[in-house]
Amino acid sequence: MDLYSGKINKLIEELSSLPGIGTKSASRLAFYLVNEPEERVKRLTEAILDARENIHYCRECFTLTDEELCPICSSVKRDHNTIMVVENTRDLAAYEKTGRYDGVYHVLHGAISPMLGIGPNDIKLKELMKRLEGDVEEVIIATNSSLEGETTAMYISKLIKPTGIRVSRIASGVPVGGDLENIDEVTLLRALEGRVEL
Ligand code: ZN
Repeated sequence: MDLYSGKINKLIEELSSLPGIGTKSASRLAFYLVNEPEERVKRLTEAILDARENIHYCRECFTLTDEELCPICSSVKRDHNTIMVVENTRDLAAYEKTGRYDGVYHVLHGAISPMLGIGPNDIKLKELMKRLEGDVEEVIIATNSSLEGETTAMYISKLIKPTGIRVSRIASGVPVGGDLENIDEVTLLRALEGRVEL
């Protein structure tokens, strides 16, 4: 027997399919939403739809943006010869929050994982190599220190080495398996400053 009406169940099911939302949080959210004024719920759904329709990848670094070029890539204050490679936009945001990195980024949207069947062609790696044909002095690999992140870092450094461009890897200190966005700014800065050349 279902405890709730079909429509509530459907909403709970949809919400619990979101990352980080278990059944308990999903039902809490569902009951919260159905009790909110209709206007408020409309604003929320419109914000979701609007973001989904109008946010796309930056032409240069592939972060999520609603412009053709993200604010970082279009800024003249940034050092466009230094590219930090990160796995996702949240990692980029974590480094931006430190306010101490003035280069640009490249967002891979994933990491190589033979176990999950994710190969080099499934992430934005070709796009990175294309950018390196331009004027680039250093590539800082800041993928996570998980098995996938390390595999990706190794793969990228092997690709870049022959080009003569300096390749470095952020220092450990970022705990193994650590998700960059959950690590405090001091640790991130230490990892960046202590980066080692590959
Ligand atoms: Zn960009």
